[in-house]
This record gives sequence, structure tokens and C-alpha cells, in this order.
Amino acid sequence: MLQANPDWKTTAHREFRNDEFWREIPAWKDVTREEFGDNWWQARASVCNLKQVKETLADRVSDELIADIEKGLSLAPMNIRITPYVFALIDWDNPEDDPLRMQFLPLASQMLDDHPFYLADSLSEDEDAPVNMLTHRYPDKVLFLPLTTCPVYCSYCTRSRIIGGSTDTVEKDTYGANIARWEPAFAYMRANPQIEDVVISGGDAFNLTAKQIRHIGETLLDIPHIRRIRYATKGVAIMPMKITHDEKWMDSLLAVHKKGHALGKQVVIHTHFSSPKEITQWTKDAMDRLFSENVLVRNQAVLQQGVNNSEAVMIQMARKLAFLNIQSYYVYIHDMVPGCEHLRTTVAEGVEIEKRLRGTTAGFNIPTFVCDAPGGGGKRHVASYEYYDKENGISVWRAPNVKPGELFLYFDPIHKLSAEAQKRWADESQRIEMVKAAVNRVNPDLGSDERKKLAQRLSIPLA
Ligand SMILES: *Cc1c(COP(=O)(O)O)cnc(C)c1O
Ligand code: SF4
Repeated sequence: MLQANPDWKTTAHREFRNDEFWREIPAWKDVTREEFGDNWWQARASVCNLKQVKETLADRVSDELIADIEKGLSLAPMNIRITPYVFALIDWDNPEDDPLRMQFLPLASQMLDDHPFYLADSLSEDEDAPVNMLTHRYPDKVLFLPLTTCPVYCSYCTRSRIIGGSTDTVEKDTYGANIARWEPAFAYMRANPQIEDVVISGGDAFNLTAKQIRHIGETLLDIPHIRRIRYATKGVAIMPMKITHDEKWMDSLLAVHKKGHALGKQVVIHTHFSSPKEITQWTKDAMDRLFSENVLVRNQAVLQQGVNNSEAVMIQMARKLAFLNIQSYYVYIHDMVPGCEHLRTTVAEGVEIEKRLRGTTAGFNIPTFVCDAPGGGGKRHVASYEYYDKENGISVWRAPNVKPGELFLYFDPIHKLSAEAQKRWADESQRIEMVKAAVNRVNPDLGSDERKKLAQRLSIPLA
């Protein structure tokens, strides 16, 4: 899917769509600009099940497509929830290839069997959780998950084990925001003075009320050793009108930001654009407001087959985001979670795209490509693997200061490997031999505890 050198030295990234694109959708042909710009309308009119997909599109799409979606939903680990903003940006004349449709609405005809070594909790977040709702993996930073609902649900969600409610295939303990239930996490952060940095994720901060945004922000800022907090939300990408329209919520966010500023502490937003198609004049209006209020926004994207695994798309996105004062921070190699094998890419693609991206705009607007090492190794630069068996799609990683002594494995999607390699993967004993060979290549003397841990994670013998 890598393309030839695209012509990126243009000013196309400065153009922002501003037409009434939603009027192409049968259900919204009479929706005014004012109504469309109301975040409460966006939430109310969001598309959350097959029936609503059908009602919204009416005769715009074929029965075959609807049947394909229906089957996709019966297999997917994620429910759907799509804001009208995103739904209307999908090219319904060619939904099969549309990067937004691919992210939010699975088609059974495009789905593939899971990799044999997929993991529901690919990043071992539960294992590294000292208290409920908090993952503490790195010494000075924590990941706080105050809720597990979002304004949209992504097919490729790394936390599909808890986010967005149970599906036909996955039973989940999804939880909404509840101030009373966060106290143990706050107490842990108060009691651990090495913690300086808090990622408030989930779930999505857009689903926190004004009061909850403020409660979390003020509680964390009141902890003397906490220096930096980030609210993680896909909202800027999928419902930008909340930033310009929901005054109560913005007042809260800005109050926390102001308090942080007065204390010499950073309060920033981390958002999640995966495609330049998500960026319109609505985004620009939202970003103009955040910038004028001095709120820094960074972006984290996930590398996905057919969505953004091309040089041209990534350059366009980085430059477009830069133009809006959004700093591209990370691009993640897709985690090894179930239900999205068709969206994963190889590590090699990540290395190649990052190489090509570097130098196309200011260095601080070029994202670092990382692989979040399955099993809890944490984020690793994509080219920093210890060993990479490209033929069989096996990469071996170390995390010397996060999990000393351990090895971590990432596996490329099998359908992207050669026919011979695919045959080897189909045979369980050959599969085990390939993994063993890769591990021994990096460390034949791997300690027995570390070996056992790895074997357990992959459910194969490794001795
Ligand atoms: C990603 C992550 C963080 C934040 O890491 P940065 O590299 O600082 O963005 C913190 N804790 C956990 C568990 C994470 O997965
Ligand atoms: S917004 Fe984030 S947490 Fe929510 S479904 Fe998407 S990837 Fe998962």
C-alpha cells in the first residue's frame, strides 16, 4: 500500500471543507448549519445501530452493503456510535474504500481471522493496575481511565475489552463517569510522589460533564507533585462543534487550564485524528478557539491499513494538523487486539512511512512512530526492535527501563506475509519454532521467569 513519492509540496493542506456536506445524507437534507453545529444535536442524532444506519441512509446504499454491515457488527468486538459529522463525511458512493467508514463501521467482507497471538488486553493494562481505573507502568506517569464510554466507537479500539458496552462476541464491564468511584485512584496518586504526569483517558473526556472535567482537573492539580495533565479525547476530530458550542464544558476546561497555568503546571489536550478527511472548517474553528485560549493540542493516530498507511496521507495529515496548531505526537502500530486484523499493518510499513515523513515539515510536527509492545513493554520507537524476522512477521523488543530483562513480541498480520510464511503460520508446531527461534536469537539465555511469562502470554511452550 506504499505509494510512489506524492506531490506534497503544495498548499492543499491549507484548504478546509466548508460546504453543507451533511445534506447529501437523506435523513439530514433539511438540517441547517446552525443545527448541525450544535453538539447536543450531534450527540442525539448519532448513529448507534444497524436500524439507524438504514434509516439515515435510506436509498443511498445497496441492500448488499447493509447486509455486509449487519454481519460485520455480529462479529465485531465494538458497538457502533458515529456522530453525524463523521457519518456525513463518509463517501457513501464508495463506502468500501472510505477511510472513515473503515474506522467506525465494519464490513464482514473485509474482516479477517484474528492473529493466533492476539490479546484482548494487548498492552497488559490490567496487570499493571495498582488500583481500579489506573495503570502505572512508567515511574513518573500514570494512565487514568475515569470512564469507558466515548462519543464515537472505533472498530480498532485498543480497549475493546471494556469500551462501549457488550457486543455479540464480547461481554464487557463498561462504566460511565462517577465521581464517587475515582477516589481510590486519586488516593494512589497522592500517595506516590514520583508521579508527575497523568493521562486522563478512557473512554473519552468529551463524555465527562463540565462538573466532572473540573473535579478531575482540580483534584489532580491540587496534588503538589503532579506537574502535567492531559485530557485525552477524540472529540476534536469527531465532534469539533462541542469546542465552539458547549460553553459550560469549555468554561470548566478553561478554568482547569487557567488554574494549571497559575500553578506552573501543564494542562493540554491529546486528540486522535487518523485521517485528513476528518479535518474541515469545523475543526479549524474549534482549533482557533483552543489556540486563542492557549490550550496546546497534540495528536495520536493509529496506523491502519487502507486508512492512513500511505506516505501521501500521512504527509497531508501532519501538514494539515500543523497548520491548525495541532502537534503530531505519536503514530501507533496497531495493537494486537481482536476483531481488527484487517486494519493492522506490518512494523516494516511503519518504519518506511516514518522515514518518508521526516523532513516534510517542521520536526516538532512529525509524529514519532511507536509500537506499544504487547504484554506491557510500553511504547517503543518503531525501528528500535532488537530483531525483526520480516519474512515471518515477528519482531522482538526490549524495554530496558520499564521491564528490565523481559522480551516482548509483536506479530505482523499474517495475510501480508508471503505464501510460504502463511503456510508456516498455519502449522502450530512450526509457529512455535519460529517464535522460539526469534526469542533465542535475541537472548538464548533468557531467564526462566521471563521465559515463563512470555510463554504464558502467548499460551505456547517456550522452554
Ligand atoms: C501511553 C501511556 C502513557 C503516556 O505515555 P507518553 O509516552 O508519555 O505519551 C502513560 N501510561 C501508560 C500506561 C500508557 O500506555
Ligand atoms: S475514542 Fe479511543 S477509547 Fe474510544 S473507542 Fe475510539 S480508540 Fe477506543
